[in-house]
Amino acid sequence: MNRQKSFESDGPSLYLVPTPIGNRSEVSTRTLETLNLVDVIACEDTRNSGQLLKSLGISKPLISHHEFNTTQSIPGILKLLEEGKKVAVISDAGYPLISDPGAGLVEAVIEEEIPVISISGPNAALDALVASGLSTKHYLYYGFLDAKSTKRKKELEQLKAFPYTLIFYEAPHRIEDTLKDVLEVLGDRKICLARELTKVHEEYLRGTVSEVLEICEGLKGEMVLVVEGNTQQNTTPIEEVVVKALALAADGMKPKQAAAAACAGTRFSKNEVYGEMMKRK
Ligand code: SAM
Repeated sequence: MNRQKSFESDGPSLYLVPTPIGNRSEVSTRTLETLNLVDVIACEDTRNSGQLLKSLGISKPLISHHEFNTTQSIPGILKLLEEGKKVAVISDAGYPLISDPGAGLVEAVIEEEIPVISISGPNAALDALVASGLSTKHYLYYGFLDAKSTKRKKELEQLKAFPYTLIFYEAPHRIEDTLKDVLEVLGDRKICLARELTKVHEEYLRGTVSEVLEICEGLKGEMVLVVEGNTQQNTTPIEEVVVKALALAADGMKPKQAAAAACAGTRFSKNEVYGEMMKRK
C-alpha cells in the first residue's frame, strides 16, 4: 500500500512533465513552474530537450534517461532523489511513459516511497481521439503496432472483437501498409487519421479505411490512427438508447440532437432512435 499526498511535502519528488507535441505555446504555466523548480531534468535526448528548454528560458542540469540506458539511469535518478533532490522527467514530445521511456523509473521511485507527481499536458493520442468524431466513451490506447505485417495482423486479430475505439501511433512510411492490414483484419470501419497535430500542417482525415487508403500515399508527418470499435459486438438494446435520448430531450435538448447524442457508439442510427422516441411520445 502506498498513499501519496502530493501537495503535503516539500521533499524530493519525481515530476512527470509533458512537453509540446508540436506547438510550443501549449506549454502550461505549471509545466514552466515545475521545470524551474526541479534540480535536474531527465530526458530522452539531451540535445533535443536542451533546445526546447532553451527556447522556454529554462537552464537546468540535464541527464540522459532512455530505453537503452535504464540500468544506469534509474539508479542514478534514485540516488539524486535520496539526496533530497527534485527531478523532472520529460520525453521528446507529449507525456513521458506514453510510447516513451519512464515506466521502470516510476515503478522504482514508487517502490522507494518517494512521491511521483504527474503534470497535465499535451498527448497526441487524446488530441486525436477527441476530434476524431468516433466514440470517446470507452477507448483503448494501443500505441505502435508491430512494424512487420504478419505480427501486426496478429495484434489486430486480438483487437478485432473489442467494442471500443482503438488508438494507434504510426509512422508515415508504414501508414499505407497498416491501413491495408486494418482493412483486411478489422474491415472497412470508420477511422480518423490525425496528422501533424497542433502544427501548421495539422490535418484530420475522417472516413472509412478504404476512403483514407485511396488518398494516403505520400502523406507525411506524425500520425495517430483512431479506429471505430467493433460495432457488431455492441449489444446495447435500443430501449436503453431511447431512454437516454428521451432524458436528454426532457433536459431541454432538441429531440433530433438528443437522438444523435444517445446513439453515438451504438449500432443504431439517429433516425432509428428518433423514430422510436416519436412512438413513445
Ligand atoms: N509521448 C508521446 C505522447 O504523449 O503523445 C508519444 C511519443 S511516440 C514516441 C511518437 C508518436 O506519437 C509519433 O510517431 C506519432 O504517432 C505520435 N505523435 C506525436 N506527436 C504527434 C503530432 N503532433 N501529431 C500526430 N501524432 C503525433
